[in-house]
Amino acid sequence: MKQNPKRVIGLVILFILLVAAVILGVRVASLVDMTYVEMHTTPTPEPPVRNVMQVTVDPNAPTPPPVLRSGSQGEEVIQLQTRLQQLGYYTSSIDGDFGPGTKSAVIVFQLQHDLSADGIVGEDTRNVLYSASAQPKATPTPEPDPTPTPETVYPWVRSDGLPILVNRDHFLPDGYQPADLVYMADYCDSSIVKIKASGIQGERVAVDAMMSMLEYAHSQGITVWQVSAGYRSKAYQQQLFDEQVYEYRKKNGLSYNDAVSATRLTVMEPGSSEHHLGLAFDITVPGVAFKGTEQAAWLAENCWQFGFIIRYTEEKEDITGILAEPWHIRYVGTEHSLNMLEENLCLEEYIAKYGFE
Ligand SMILES: [Zn+2]
Repeated sequence: MKQNPKRVIGLVILFILLVAAVILGVRVASLVDMTYVEMHTTPTPEPPVRNVMQVTVDPNAPTPPPVLRSGSQGEEVIQLQTRLQQLGYYTSSIDGDFGPGTKSAVIVFQLQHDLSADGIVGEDTRNVLYSASAQPKATPTPEPDPTPTPETVYPWVRSDGLPILVNRDHFLPDGYQPADLVYMADYCDSSIVKIKASGIQGERVAVDAMMSMLEYAHSQGITVWQVSAGYRSKAYQQQLFDEQVYEYRKKNGLSYNDAVSATRLTVMEPGSSEHHLGLAFDITVPGVAFKGTEQAAWLAENCWQFGFIIRYTEEKEDITGILAEPWHIRYVGTEHSLNMLEENLCLEEYIAKYGFE
């Protein structure tokens, strides 16, 4: 039987196509298989390094060390305390508890290394702390050294070198004379700080330190500052006290004795106010309550490196006997402010611990 040649050619082409299809199909199938096998059985020993994003989200990447803060405990805290001790920042016992002493040491370390001084050991602080660029503790002196020299013996420096304490139990010594009061409205750059009243004065050393501090605040974008109180003479404090007593008697109908008792809770008795020294300032933000402002937070974090302390904190209310005043700063000099920060001591505690006058 004679075949149709066209039909033969058609069959041949069909056959070739079939063979080609089979070969291709096997290849594809085996590729799919291999991929499947690879994906499901091959372990990935190293995180992929194609790009940074992938490394950071890869679940197989090693977990970063924990952020250490107040309340943290354990081996990492022991390592931290050991490191801080090696560098001279931490002097208490290495107990693995991240308490106030550890926090203060971290803050002093951060201040000295231009890190954000939050007392928390995150990535930035850790990287510096365990690097070769970590510096041993030194007393930073952004200010002219306030330590008295034979030529300048400040009246507020006690014979044992500690800052004078003025409170309800420690009245200003009779005949105390400020060293060098300046009128702050004339003396201070008004683009840095507003001085609320033209009569406000302060000791020059403390005012200089405050201006350096507030210039630094401006450089960090915290710009609105006001000083609403500085030096007060005993006579002026007497006037403030009497006015408050009068208020209580008139508005609240209190007896004289009750009015005096009530006044003592908020107004210092003449002779017992730190403002007599010219080293204490009330820092405010015009038009708002200071507590809770970004200025208050900044001040609490940064005043120490300029020789100031937050004199009345909530934590130390039992010791100072004064309700917390986040706006009231007291100049003591960096030598003392940094020690007090590091050891978490208020002035009463600091003098009880180190004073021998
Ligand atoms: Zn005050």
